[in-house]
Amino acid sequence: MASGKTVKQEGPQSYDIGAGPVGLMLSTCLARWGYKIKHIDNRPEPTRTGRADGIQPRSLDLIRNMGLKADIMAHKPARVYEVAFWDPSQSGQGIARTVTWASCPSFIDARYPFTTLLHQGHIERVFIRDLEKHGVEIQRPWTIRGFRSDQKDDPDYPVHVELGHVDGGIFETVRAKYLFGGEGARSLIRQQLNIGIKHRDPIQHVWGVMDGVVKTDFPDIKVRSPATLYLMKCIVHSEHGSIMVIPREDNMVRLYIQIASSTDANWNPRMTATEAEVQASAKKILHPYSIEWQRVEWYSVYPIGQGISDRYTLDQRVFLGGDACHTHSPKAGQGMNTAFLDALNLAWKIHAVESGFADRDLLKTYESERKSAAESLLDFDNRYAKLLSQRQPAPCGVRAASADDEETDEFQDNDFIKTFKESCEFTSGYGVSYGANSLNWSPNHPAKSPLMHPKGTKLTPGSIFINSDVTRVVDANVVHLEQEVPLNGSFRIFIFAGSPCVTRQALLDFANGLSGTRSFYAAYTRPDVGMVSHHESHNPHSLFFTLCTVLASKRSRIEISRDVPGVLARYREHIYADDIWDRRVPNAKAAAHAKMGLDEENGGVVVVRPDGYVGMVASLVEGNGTVDALNDYFSAFCTKKLGQVVSQL
Ligand SMILES: Cc1cc2nc3c(=O)[nH]c(=O)nc-3n(C[C@H](O)[C@H](O)[C@H](O)COP(=O)(O)OP(=O)(O)OC[C@H]3O[C@@H](n4cnc5c(N)ncnc54)[C@H](O)[C@@H]3O)c2cc1C
Repeated sequence: MASGKTVKQEGPQSYDIGAGPVGLMLSTCLARWGYKIKHIDNRPEPTRTGRADGIQPRSLDLIRNMGLKADIMAHKPARVYEVAFWDPSQSGQGIARTVTWASCPSFIDARYPFTTLLHQGHIERVFIRDLEKHGVEIQRPWTIRGFRSDQKDDPDYPVHVELGHVDGGIFETVRAKYLFGGEGARSLIRQQLNIGIKHRDPIQHVWGVMDGVVKTDFPDIKVRSPATLYLMKCIVHSEHGSIMVIPREDNMVRLYIQIASSTDANWNPRMTATEAEVQASAKKILHPYSIEWQRVEWYSVYPIGQGISDRYTLDQRVFLGGDACHTHSPKAGQGMNTAFLDALNLAWKIHAVESGFADRDLLKTYESERKSAAESLLDFDNRYAKLLSQRQPAPCGVRAASADDEETDEFQDNDFIKTFKESCEFTSGYGVSYGANSLNWSPNHPAKSPLMHPKGTKLTPGSIFINSDVTRVVDANVVHLEQEVPLNGSFRIFIFAGSPCVTRQALLDFANGLSGTRSFYAAYTRPDVGMVSHHESHNPHSLFFTLCTVLASKRSRIEISRDVPGVLARYREHIYADDIWDRRVPNAKAAAHAKMGLDEENGGVVVVRPDGYVGMVASLVEGNGTVDALNDYFSAFCTKKLGQVVSQL
């Protein structure tokens, strides 16, 4: 290795190590937003078999927002709408289905209320193809050999990275603005930074996982035609242990099979269990049903270890994310989904800093926000994995299979089913939320306007923007409002304009306020504003904001030139009529306003962060107040002083 050829390079803005879900999501975002990326992985090719396969509802929203959903769905993934719970039968013989439960119950306002099951390798390839379109080729099989980060030595490109081909012989030294360690649980970057991992649970559980094609009379795995397999996600507890059944693409089924548990610190959790032994355990657990394997695609034995990294960065230049920061049981299907959200959180913040919009301190919120999300995940996973590995007492009574989550009856859920139900919001991804900080307004935020967080709003800063349907005025298409601005690194400002005859002046004042030279909007006008194409729909004035106006009116009654002031009217494709009925607010005249908890007459303004989380909500009023409130909010993390001149007038 030492005698190899050394190539010196300078200049990538981001250096990404590890082409698993976290690294790929980060590079895809940054490459799309124009950053120069260098990305390596030490494997010769993407994941071939095994690993993650569950894309949760919120992640599918994100993938759609990136324009990649069709590529995922082209693989015809299995969709899990319901989970069936099986327990020891009351007769004492074998197992019986006790209850079914929606995998994403209707109390969660999800666009896609199902888990999408597709092999991780297919998912990785969707991102890799997108990266290639943006000029980024993953360099394989290359490994990181070392790095150092020294701001004093080189303030612009402080990170020096050494890497080499895994076979030795060729080495490179590269300078970068950032280094990202997405190299999974055994992260070398984390080790070199001397960042520790806190392990949670002294109980160790060993599970086998097997993907394959099976022949069985277990009723929730059914072959209905020679070509098609229909199956449910099932969680089976029996006298002989537990199994989780997961549908897969290509007529496959994944079985997670409990092998052993111990609290003994000296116990070797990687005790071997052969393929045949795992299959024998599965047969015992599923008794009286039979199961035979026609083909085994992939098989592995793994211990469940729960750990969380002490830090995600030390200097806001070298970052960690994904499994490098948090590991847990794979059975709740969260690792890849959490990895995506780590990357998304970091990507837009790097973009905001590097493009001169936000102070470098913004990057500190990556660790605080994502570490607390990982803590919640581990808390949940700890309870879930423990319960899954324990034998459950039989529930008192058997309930007919039903996905109706509002149903209540005499049935007493056991602890596992209770934990499952309580956790659905979290596992769907909609329950992930961030605490108060400079981005997520709270009464402690420096922005103190009395217009902040109007009474009645159902939006919570730090939580995901609520889904709603509206009619796009220019073409009368009914659209999903939350999907209207693609993931482009911009803040999305939704002006819920209430009733046009009530808010005409307030809307005019808001538009005038935006044009004021010290407004958050004008201060970040794009340098090429005079040359922007007439067809630019999302960022005609500023690369940091997209404005969407939603009028509480029927589409046919809206005349853009009359009802929407110039600066807002420029976003022609982002003007909507709030005239679509919604079953969650059946009596509302303007359902989107009502779902947000905003006054249907007077409206309100919502700032949504580039990653889809609510930043702040303000009332829409006549005068400067609303724009001043937004100036104060953005002043908490932007590079320019905003609003003072306007406020003092
Ligand atoms: C059996 C199983 C089932 C799972 N099911 C699900 C599920 O359904 N849903 C879900 O969300 N999650 C699931 N997970 C978890 C999920 O696979 C991981 O959480 C996810 O892959 C983490 O992504 P990552 O990018 O952080 O790390 P990884 O996917 O581990 O990717 C790390 C990458 O870095 C590369 N690398 C490592 N070291 C170096 C180095 N020194 N130099 C260069 N490259 C390096 C590796 O080759 C790899 O490509 C499952 C995991 C397992 C084991």
